[in-house]
Amino acid sequence: MTPIEFLKGVGPNRADLLKKEIGIHTFQDLLYYFPFRYVDRSVFNQIAEIPELNMPVQLKGRITGMREEGVGRRKRLVANFQDTSGMIQLVWFKGAQWIKKAIKINDTIVVYGKAARFANKWNIPHPEMTPIQQHETGLQPVYPSTEKLTASRLDSKGLHKLQLALKEQMPIQFEDWLPDTILKENKLASRNQAMQWVHFPKTPEQAEAAKLRLKFEELLLLQLELLVRKKIALTKSEGFVYDKVGSNFNTFYEKHLPFELTGAQKRVLKEIRSDMTTGNHMNRLLQGDVGSGKTLVALLTMLLALDNGFQAALMAPTEILAIQHFESLKEFLKGMEINIGLLTGSTKQKDRRVLHEALQNGEMQLLIGTHALLEDTVQFKNLGLVVIDEQHRFGVAQRAKMWRKNTTPPHVLIMTATPIPRTLAMTFYGDLDVSVIDELPPGRKPITTVHRKDEQRLRVFGFMKEEITKGRQVYIVYPLIHESEKLDYNNLMEGYEAIQRAFPLPEYRVSIVHGQQKPADKEFEMNRFVRGETQIMVATTVIEVGVNVPNASVMIIESAERFGLSQLHQLRGRVGRGAEKSYCILMTGDKISPDSKKRMNTMVRTNDGFEIAEVDLQLRGPGDLMGTQQSGVLDLKIANLARDGHLVALARKVATDVLQADPNLEQEENAGLRSQLVHALKSRPDWGKIA
Ligand code: ADP
Ligand code: MG
Repeated sequence: MTPIEFLKGVGPNRADLLKKEIGIHTFQDLLYYFPFRYVDRSVFNQIAEIPELNMPVQLKGRITGMREEGVGRRKRLVANFQDTSGMIQLVWFKGAQWIKKAIKINDTIVVYGKAARFANKWNIPHPEMTPIQQHETGLQPVYPSTEKLTASRLDSKGLHKLQLALKEQMPIQFEDWLPDTILKENKLASRNQAMQWVHFPKTPEQAEAAKLRLKFEELLLLQLELLVRKKIALTKSEGFVYDKVGSNFNTFYEKHLPFELTGAQKRVLKEIRSDMTTGNHMNRLLQGDVGSGKTLVALLTMLLALDNGFQAALMAPTEILAIQHFESLKEFLKGMEINIGLLTGSTKQKDRRVLHEALQNGEMQLLIGTHALLEDTVQFKNLGLVVIDEQHRFGVAQRAKMWRKNTTPPHVLIMTATPIPRTLAMTFYGDLDVSVIDELPPGRKPITTVHRKDEQRLRVFGFMKEEITKGRQVYIVYPLIHESEKLDYNNLMEGYEAIQRAFPLPEYRVSIVHGQQKPADKEFEMNRFVRGETQIMVATTVIEVGVNVPNASVMIIESAERFGLSQLHQLRGRVGRGAEKSYCILMTGDKISPDSKKRMNTMVRTNDGFEIAEVDLQLRGPGDLMGTQQSGVLDLKIANLARDGHLVALARKVATDVLQADPNLEQEENAGLRSQLVHALKSRPDWGKIA
């Protein structure tokens, strides 16, 4: 572990920067600082076929002329650069004098830089230029750098020089800790080769082989760690055994179930039941797209708990949603003698006392509520099951609090409508079991989604009127990312007023719901819409989760470019719940970013939550998707959970096979794996807690 300041070319200042900016403290750290891509300097682009904005291109040609253009701050030097396919402009905003001297008209040179667009033409600002005689071919690794590092001449090239210096100063042999059989079966490069090739590849194939090997070992270790942790957790956790299917479940199933369960609902229910008979503590994630019928699965599971003499609780992230669950469960259970209660932040003190007592003496069997359930004063007689709806809204600590409500932890069923790509789930929820409802109840018509610009608003209003005339209802949702944003409120209120003008009384009635209303007002407005007394609901994302108004057939999302994909998908899920054909209209400004464009196109193209989650993962990366709290724990050096999904799956499989053949990694050939794993388990003691 030699400190980085001992490397040739690194003095105290640079050492300091390397530590602060990119966390390189030692020789070791530098070795594991990998390039994120390679530029093949032997391949040239054609001017006529420049692939994409902001992509680095390498061109071979000559400068045919130059001139200065513009005045003041826009003053610039412009050169015409020509290859066999066409012409492009090279532009400098600084250093014109120096460049003018350096350029020789009509000499063949190599130009390298990022292509930009200006006035509908391609140009390359501040390109690198090399005379063809001095051009080095071969692969050039590109390392991530920062502004401050670049200022100290530690840009990608500078960092590569450090790698060269390190190689000279300390030639290292790397021992392979992967067993030979795994290397051979998966055609992986040795560790030694990979570590050389990753920094100094001669061919694209070498670079590929190096990355593959290093990603694989990183992911394999991660999966081994997860599997071992899961095993440890399982042997430690004792759970209630639900061995009876009793009268609550049976009566409901036979007499009250208003429809046939879908195949997926039945399968998931079986998975849950088998968990509950093992004697282990259930910790299961239930994924199912919006409208796939998770609530019913939750209800049946809760009835099982009741049949086995336990109480059950269902926790929702918002008051509106808790109330809706409460109402719909009551409706489902009508005619059955089940004592069901509701507890939210606005439950009165007087009612609360009654509720607390009924929970403690066991009279209250089912409790529905919000975060209020977590309060210490809420004590159960014998809580056997906790269902958490829309998991992504609850933090890890809150979930843990729930299962301390009984001496043996209650079974936990977590439901989420934000599908998580499989490979990501394998990693982030590696120690949870996952069930998926991948089928919608029959008779649903897919929602038609369109993208409209602000200037088409009148047409959109016209369409709303048609739908309302047919007796349908409409949601209009405004972004309100932070409850305190004044500007957002102004937009919302302006939108509300504009809607009231375009849809005047007495023919039309408009509701409004947002986070700064009193709970009672919110409920009042919401109920008017639910009962069909108002036709239009103007709202913020408070209605994002779970609200169920089957007669609503149009969802209009204002400033849709400001929403993330999973949120758009959630919002869209508020319609298409009845038998009517439903629509989602994404309103945006005229100019939106390429990422926003991709989000809109994805929404228009597909209704499949898993497909949307994949695109979301590509656009935002796993950190954003899972919340920073969880991503920080997983600092992967080279593998990328979004792009290397197939490798995650492969690593998972290999890890499973290895542990099956040699559960404690005692065999000779697994000695390397074992010591790496022991190290990993020690260095992340908190890890078991993340899921
Ligand atoms: P989500 O998975 O989004 O929570 P819900 O549980 O709210 O979905 O279900 C959406 C709607 O579908 C509800 O009105 C529910 O009663 C209905 N539903 C659930 N399961 C079925 C089924 N098997 N057949 C028909 N309708 C169903
Ligand atoms: Mg739901």
